[in-house]
Amino acid sequence: MATINENFLKLQAGYLFPEIGRRMRAFKTANPKADVISMGIGDVTQPIAAEIVGAMKDAADKMGTREGLHGYGPEQGYDFLRNLIADNDYKSRGVDIDIDEIFVSDGAKCDTGNMQEIFGLDNVVAVTDPVYPVYVDTNVMAGRTGNAKDNGQYDGIVYMPINAENNFNPELPTEKVDLIYLCYPNNPTGAVIDKKSLAKWVDFAKENKAIILYDAAYEAYISEPDIPHSIYEIEGAKEVAIEFRSFSKTAGFTGLRCAFVVVPKQLKAYTKAGDVVAVNQIWSRRHCTKFNGASYISQAAAAAVYSERGKKQVKDVIAIYMDNAVRIRKALSDLGYTIYGGVNAPYIWMKTPNGMSSWDFFDTLLEKTHLVGTPGSGFGLAGEGYFRLTAFGLPENVDEAMKRIAKLYTL
Ligand SMILES: *Cc1c(COP(=O)(O)O)cnc(C)c1O
Repeated sequence: MATINENFLKLQAGYLFPEIGRRMRAFKTANPKADVISMGIGDVTQPIAAEIVGAMKDAADKMGTREGLHGYGPEQGYDFLRNLIADNDYKSRGVDIDIDEIFVSDGAKCDTGNMQEIFGLDNVVAVTDPVYPVYVDTNVMAGRTGNAKDNGQYDGIVYMPINAENNFNPELPTEKVDLIYLCYPNNPTGAVIDKKSLAKWVDFAKENKAIILYDAAYEAYISEPDIPHSIYEIEGAKEVAIEFRSFSKTAGFTGLRCAFVVVPKQLKAYTKAGDVVAVNQIWSRRHCTKFNGASYISQAAAAAVYSERGKKQVKDVIAIYMDNAVRIRKALSDLGYTIYGGVNAPYIWMKTPNGMSSWDFFDTLLEKTHLVGTPGSGFGLAGEGYFRLTAFGLPENVDEAMKRIAKLYTL
């Protein structure tokens, strides 16, 4: 008899985006003429930059020749890409990252989801609330939690609320935690963390022999000076942090797939007996066993992101999204909504009007204005009463969406 991993049965049935899709389809079926604009799922809409497309074509042409064929590449990624990452993302910020510390992959969703498996099941996981659901669900699947409670939170996970009062930076936990997931610029709230606040987390991790899993997928959207783009800009972070990066939001690779994770050689974890283990070696072993490398074409495309022209073109695309964010922020503020984010991240986190629940606001917005956003409660208990809009839409749709919202209420 084949038994199932019952941890999977603990997962809540309605994962956020399928439920949004279900309600959207039901609405469209009932209202086939409605022009529904989605500002829900965080997917890009601008075409991939010309320099990157050119690099992909070149790579594809090479693959069609005997000399240029690339079969299985190194599991950790090609050196040409890892060198560019080390120089452009780290050396340029005064951080020395060796290419052996960089593992190229096909996405940060996989990396953030997979990383937990090299750590013991007895680790206590801490996440912000609201949170990117991948961190929680993958720990549930692994069996690092108990069942979901009535409020949707899992027994055994430490939830750290982030809200306007704490500037969307969680308080340091008072209980024992071992693996701490932080995401800045933050999805879903659009908030950032400054160096001083991040340094507190690095110190905390050192004192508690904990590890920070730092998701910097939106690093390229930081517009204000002095906001750290990498956790390694903080002194000592290499001893306690793993960093996740992705080309998805940086360069529109959501459909192309390329990302990387940095696991420093100084990073230590422990056996139950207290012996020190180098995390880099364990991750390398895991990565090489379960992953056969990101495609050559994706990595060639990623390398083009770092060319002079690639950098400029990618910046221009990000400017289009962040201009959307400016207009969303302005329109909503003028209407009297309380909003956060949208300055260093492509997400605007808004308070629902009149204390409405997140899902009630979702339904109202869809019914009355044919707009789709993401209910804040889908990201956690503390997200109730909030709503996430993305700035990844087409500029003309953003303007139309704001016109429709203006008609919804005048507060
Ligand atoms: C989009 C996103 C990622 C990136 O996912 P990919 O698999 O690289 O496309 C990672 N973390 C967060 C928080 C995200 O929103």
